[in-house]
Amino acid sequence: MLLIGSHVGMSGKEMFAGSVKEALSYQADTFMVYTGAPQNTRRKELSELKIPEAHALMKEAGIEQFIVHAPYIINLANTINPSTFELAVEFLEKEITRSAGMGSHVLVLHPGSHVGEGTKAGIQKITEGLNQILTADTPVYIALETMAGKGSEIGSNFEELAEIYDKTVHSEKLRVCMDTCHMHDAGYDVIHDFDGILTAFDKLLGIPQIACIHLNDSKNPQGARKDRHANLGDGCIGFDALARVAHHPALAAIPKILETPYIPSPENPDKKVPPYKEEIERLRHFSQNSLT
Ligand code: FE
Ligand code: FE
Ligand code: ZN
Repeated sequence: MLLIGSHVGMSGKEMFAGSVKEALSYQADTFMVYTGAPQNTRRKELSELKIPEAHALMKEAGIEQFIVHAPYIINLANTINPSTFELAVEFLEKEITRSAGMGSHVLVLHPGSHVGEGTKAGIQKITEGLNQILTADTPVYIALETMAGKGSEIGSNFEELAEIYDKTVHSEKLRVCMDTCHMHDAGYDVIHDFDGILTAFDKLLGIPQIACIHLNDSKNPQGARKDRHANLGDGCIGFDALARVAHHPALAAIPKILETPYIPSPENPDKKVPPYKEEIERLRHFSQNSLT
C-alpha cells in the first residue's frame, strides 16, 4: 500500500481538526503540518489546537501517522548571530513537546544555513544545538531534511548528515527526511538512479533512518541548487521517476508527503487551488507493472 499525503494547513477555529479534514478531502492516508505559520514562530497552546477532535477523525479514517515540520526560519546552524541560534534551540524544545502532544513521532527540521563561517562551523553549531535539546527521553525523532544546497545550506549531501549524526550524543533520536526536489537540485540522480541514491544512503546512514519522503518535482535541472518545487510531471524529474520513488518497495512503510505548488483553478485561473487530490490519485493508480 502507498502511504501518501501532502502538507496541510492548521489555522482558524478548527486548527488541527481542520488539518485532518483537509487531508481527508485529498483522500490522503497521512499528512504533514506546521504547528503555525512556517515563516514565523508564533504558536498557540496545545489546548487550543482541537487535538481530541483531530484524533477522533484520524481514528475513524484509519490515519495512523502524520509528520510535523518545524518552521523554516529556525536556523541551528547560524554561526554569526547568537540570538538566532538561541531562538532555534528554545523553539525546537517547545516544538518537540507540541509534536508529541499532537501525537506525531517525527519532526522534520532543515539542518540550517551557516550564513558565513563555512560548513564545518555550521555543523558544529547544529550539533551544539541538538546536544542541548535531545535527551534519552525526547519523545519524537528529529528528521533532518536533505537540502538543495542553495546559499549556505547544510545537508545537501548524505556525508554532512552523517557528520551531524556522528557529533550528536543522542543520535538515536535523529532520522532523515528525503526530499526528491532537494536531492535532485543537490546533484543526486533521482531520475535514473534512485536505487544508487538508496545504496549510497544505506552505506552512510542506513535505510531504516529514513522517516519521511517529501515527494516533489523540481523546476530546475539536476545540480541547480535552487529549491523550486514543481507539480509531479511538470518539472525536470518527471512523473515516472517520482512514482518509482513513491512505490519503492524499500520505502513502503514510510510516509510520502507532497509539497508541490498550488495550481490555477480550472474555473477561475486567478484563483490557486491545491493539486493534492489529483496528484495522490495519479500516484495510487500508477502500478509497478507500468514501470520499466
Ligand atoms: Fe522542508
Ligand atoms: Fe521538503
Ligand atoms: Zn524545498
